[in-house]
Amino acid sequence: MRKPIYLDYNATTPVDPEVAKEMIPYIESLYGNPSSSYSIGRSNKEAVEKARAQVAKLINCLPEEIYFTSCATESNNLAVKGIAWANRNNGLHIITSKIEHPAVTEVCKYLGLQGFEITYLKVDQYGRVNPKAVENAIRKDTILITIMHANNEVGTIQPIHEIGAIARQNNIVFHTDASQSVGKIETDVDKLGVDLLTIAGHKLYAPKGIGALYIRKGTKIENLMHGAGQEKSIRPGTENVIHTVGLGKACEMALRDLKQNHQNMKVSRDRLLHGLISQLGNQVHVNGDLENCLPNTLSVAFENISAHALASFISNDVLISTGSACHSGETTISSVLQAMKLDFRTAAATVRISTGKKTTEEEIDFAIEVLVNAVKKLSI
Ligand code: PLP
Repeated sequence: MRKPIYLDYNATTPVDPEVAKEMIPYIESLYGNPSSSYSIGRSNKEAVEKARAQVAKLINCLPEEIYFTSCATESNNLAVKGIAWANRNNGLHIITSKIEHPAVTEVCKYLGLQGFEITYLKVDQYGRVNPKAVENAIRKDTILITIMHANNEVGTIQPIHEIGAIARQNNIVFHTDASQSVGKIETDVDKLGVDLLTIAGHKLYAPKGIGALYIRKGTKIENLMHGAGQEKSIRPGTENVIHTVGLGKACEMALRDLKQNHQNMKVSRDRLLHGLISQLGNQVHVNGDLENCLPNTLSVAFENISAHALASFISNDVLISTGSACHSGETTISSVLQAMKLDFRTAAATVRISTGKKTTEEEIDFAIEVLVNAVKKLSI
């Protein structure tokens, strides 16, 4: 039996062999603590600093503006809580959107319980935040705007540059969760106009268990953890050298191969969509706006189909995810699709298919065949 074709790269990516190769010496023999002054410690410190520079280069910032964390969830927590706590004497108002990942939304909900006031901005039918709505939501006591760069479910890219300009004009700190965009599209912090940016290692071919947060020099932030002073005390704890080295290499490769990867992911995604439409016609409904979308992401509903039934029916052949959760026979629509005002039937019929940098034509053609057959079989 062949291995199922993996088309869920927004969930996670495999570790690239070049990344793994870079990590191996630190797994096998270079085990020193970066804080130790003897040579094996110093070489680990150098490895962490090399990785910091590699990450910084990808997003066009200074190495000292990069802080390593354990994952995107931690980076988002540090960004949102850290800015909130550091600025609570200036105001208690935070602006976010209704389509953020729980790693932002749940932090905002928590801060809401701590006395902060949160504005959750609506999005349009394509899942986009209107910069004018951000401007209108700003108050005298607004201390933070946090809007994701690209959405994990539908791939919609937000007008971050425009929102950044508004944040700057109003002197408000601006954070973006770029977990899904780093490595897929350009993520230059100056062009985007952001003060903080979240990176997730395992979404760009580094291992799970490593993330980073960009914090623009001069930004006032409070640390969530207290300890022995690593990462300038913003994120203390002995460095995860092995995974940090992996993230550094993954970022170096993402910069080197950005154009080619973008092209490959887009060609695969578009081939898939055209194949589906040519065989299933009007039964295919695309969510979001492909003009303003991550190159690899396709959120698509198949009329009269249960997305759960479809994903599970094809799971020996093709791996994809759904836009709804199913527990004890009850279907709950994702908050992103709800915010886009998708009707229940379309949302319950929605699957997310996301291609990778090495997805091949053969894989896509096989996936089209499997999906078309399954949709025809399951159509009710
Ligand atoms: N933010 C976005 C946009 C994501 O897609 C994800 C993961 O899917 C996260 C944050 C959280 O990432 P992690 O679970 O690696 O912390």
